[in-house]
Parts: sequence; structure tokens; C-alpha cells
Amino acid sequence: MINSLVIDVDDLSYCQLELGRNIKNPSYELEEELEKTLKFLDEKNIKANFFIPGHFYKRSKKLVEKINNNNHFICSHGLKHDLLHSKTKEQMIYDLKTSKYDLEDIISKEVDIYKAPVWSIKKNIDQCFDAIIEAGYKYDHSLIPKNFLKFGKNNYEMIKLENGLKIIPPTGITIFNKNIMFAGGFYTAYVGNNFLINYYKKLNSKKIPFNFYFHPYEIFTSQKNRKLIKYNNLFVSLYGIYFGRIFNKLNLICNTFNFDSLIKVYDTR
Ligand SMILES: [Zn+2]
Repeated sequence: MINSLVIDVDDLSYCQLELGRNIKNPSYELEEELEKTLKFLDEKNIKANFFIPGHFYKRSKKLVEKINNNNHFICSHGLKHDLLHSKTKEQMIYDLKTSKYDLEDIISKEVDIYKAPVWSIKKNIDQCFDAIIEAGYKYDHSLIPKNFLKFGKNNYEMIKLENGLKIIPPTGITIFNKNIMFAGGFYTAYVGNNFLINYYKKLNSKKIPFNFYFHPYEIFTSQKNRKLIKYNNLFVSLYGIYFGRIFNKLNLICNTFNFDSLIKVYDTR
């Protein structure tokens, strides 16, 4: 059974700034964190999906080329790391198209998958999906499980919308009748490793793949991002308590399961 590993190539400070949060002493730490991520994946011989936002490809074109040359899969995380669902349709299309074409220019390959910053397809959902298909993408990977179930009959199988867009759900779990994201990041940071591994094994035993995502700053955390108090922002300080402490979780998942691209895993079933 093959699953999919997803990396959101976000810089911690710059994402917060683009979301409009007030960050003191911002510094760009992503390059170092990403190099460590690439080294780790190489050692594990895993090919992953990299969702790349504008602030990264503008600064680090060479690293985008390196990700591509290492045979990982390049996907779009939007031009600006802000909320897709709060933009007008024209602004959405501008953001989506620019990011797609810029990335395609760098890697000379088509970029087919989009993931909205901070899962921001929670309102104006139809308009967001129309903009994504109009911008030329074939797939979206942005819907939280609760909203995905408005379209799909379960939270693990890809569905195709009437406008032609295919949506790949982040893996969810149903607890007390609530559909909760269970696909990495903050959502699984405090879940016991055994519980998580057993849940994913159970899915695989039913021929269901899972996807698991992380940000380089969560696991391969730079020295600066380990001292989050420096950012003088309560949200970042609380969010960051587990940074650098969940390497074992990722390591265990990577040692236990097999991975390939989201498209291969979800669109060839
Ligand atoms: Zn992001």
C-alpha cells in the first residue's frame, strides 16, 4: 500500500507576516530547515510532494530546482501565503495563475496540484474551486475533512467536481461523530506515536491510503525558531511548543510506510 508525504515549504516568520500577524525580529530560516528535510528524505529514499509558496520560490529558485532534481513533486501553495477564500475571484485567479506559471518556468514541468495556505477554502468554496480550475490546475488538496464530506461520501477517496477539478482530501478521523483532520502538522503533534501508526496501518489494511504533512520548521527547526519567544507573538509561541520535538514521529512513519506522489496514490486507485 502506498501513501503520500506532503511538505508545506513555509518560512515561519514570513508566513505569519503575510497572514497579517505582527512578528517582531523576523528572520528567514527556511533554507537551512529545507536542506535538512531534503537530506532526511534522501536517506529514507522517499519522494514527497512539496507545496511551494511565492516567498520561497522568489528567494530560493535554486532550492526549488534542487527539490525537482531530487525527483520530488512540485506543487503550488499560492503566490502569497494568505487566505484564498477572502480574495475576490479576480484576486484568486491572479494569485493561482502567477504561482503556477512561475513554478512551471523554474522546473519546466506542469504544476497540477494546489493547496491553499492554512486550509483557507472554508467559505466561498464553489468560487475558490472555480478559480482553481480556471487557473489551470487539475487537483486541489485544501479541504478540511468536515468540508470535504459535503462533497465526498468518505474522507479518504478523491472526488471529481462537476467543473472537472479533482479534490484529494487530507486524511481525517471520525471521533464522537466529528470529522477531524488527522494528517500531520499541529493536528497530530500531540497524538501518541503508537496510536497514530496503528490508525494509519488500519487504513492501509482496508486498502485506504493516508497522507501526512509537515513544515520543515516543525521538525528540522533552526536555532532561531527554537527560541520562539523572540518573535514576541503569543500565537507563534504556543504553536511552537512542539517544534523540534517530533522528529521521532516523522522518522517512525517514514520507516513504517511507503510513499509516492498524491496524484499517483489517489488518482490511480
Ligand atoms: Zn502554508
